[in-house]
Amino acid sequence: MNWKKVSLLTILGMLITLMIIGTLLDLRISKPSSNIDFPPGQPTSKVSTGQTVENPENIILFLVDGMGFGHLSLALLTQQSENSSSVWQEFQIKGWHDARSVYGPLTDSETSATAMATGNSTNFGHIGMDQEGKPIQTLMELASEEGNATGIVTDSYIWDGTPAAFIAHTTNEDDARDILTQISNSQLDLIFGELEDLGEDDIPEKEESLEILKKRFQLLDHSLNLSSSSKGSSPVAAIFEEDEIQDIESSPNLKRMTEVALEYMTAQERPFVLLVESEEMDAASHENDSDRVLRGLAAIQEALAVVLAYAKKQGNTLVLFTADHETGGLTAQSDYDHYPQMQIRWSTKEHTASVVPLFADGPGAKYFANVHRNREIGSLMKELILLEVPNSKLDEEKK
Ligand SMILES: [Zn+2]
Repeated sequence: MNWKKVSLLTILGMLITLMIIGTLLDLRISKPSSNIDFPPGQPTSKVSTGQTVENPENIILFLVDGMGFGHLSLALLTQQSENSSSVWQEFQIKGWHDARSVYGPLTDSETSATAMATGNSTNFGHIGMDQEGKPIQTLMELASEEGNATGIVTDSYIWDGTPAAFIAHTTNEDDARDILTQISNSQLDLIFGELEDLGEDDIPEKEESLEILKKRFQLLDHSLNLSSSSKGSSPVAAIFEEDEIQDIESSPNLKRMTEVALEYMTAQERPFVLLVESEEMDAASHENDSDRVLRGLAAIQEALAVVLAYAKKQGNTLVLFTADHETGGLTAQSDYDHYPQMQIRWSTKEHTASVVPLFADGPGAKYFANVHRNREIGSLMKELILLEVPNSKLDEEKK
């Protein structure tokens, strides 16, 4: 026997086996580049007084956690039938923003939501707090102070970082009891969402959570039927179980909650600020769960269609669509072997430093065309709430 030949054959055999396994498992190595310097910079967009002032009566912020341009590409390519318009095309202003935090190009949800809720960049894990840990007035707090009705709709749990950043102040994102208490002590008029991990660590049991919320809110049942009294002035909450709000098939879903929230807001007969948040893209993208991303996108588009139809009918409502950051490094791709079918590719299970979509429609939309950073979205919305000039004619009379 020629042992040299045998060992060579063995090595060759092993290499071929590894290549076959690699092909079967579709392993690909994504290599990062060398480090790239990251310049800070502090641009700020403002409502310009030199041009005709556009002042919306109502603001609806549709915020999708974890949604980047890859997710958007997928939505455009898969969720719309040929030659038909999509909800995304209805926006007058289509742009992007850079969702960085004070640390650099990456952000977490709490930090980015706080930037959009307050107009200030802050540290990781800070909810409605500045870098020093001092509370900053949030969009909802300002709106209430100015006589607006305010509401939060989320398909996640109500004390989650993103919704919490619009109404609470803490550096401890895990203290659910504190956040729920702050929500209950706020001037918020409506909150729809889930509770999760009940009874764990600082998270109160369901009964205690509901008791806290009942101090301010009238609890709606799962049918979400607004009684005549709740359509009046009493604040309402609808609380669901963990993961009860899923895709379009689930009852309730984001679309239904959004419809009811808009019905409630309209009945208030005063200006309103409504946050509609979807956590689905972030949750699915952290798992690199492509099917869940597709189902989530369908649910998001249905809810967004409701918002846009409402705003078009009302004519006085600014709609903003954006994300807090991208998750997963999702790419929609189609390779020659499988053309014209598409595949989803992922580059990470974490947040990425990608810029994210920022779309605006309705009165005031033009101010969002030149936004660079997430915090500018917050400061612009706050400015619009404080603007008392409904149109340029009144602006002239004031002078
Ligand atoms: Zn995330």
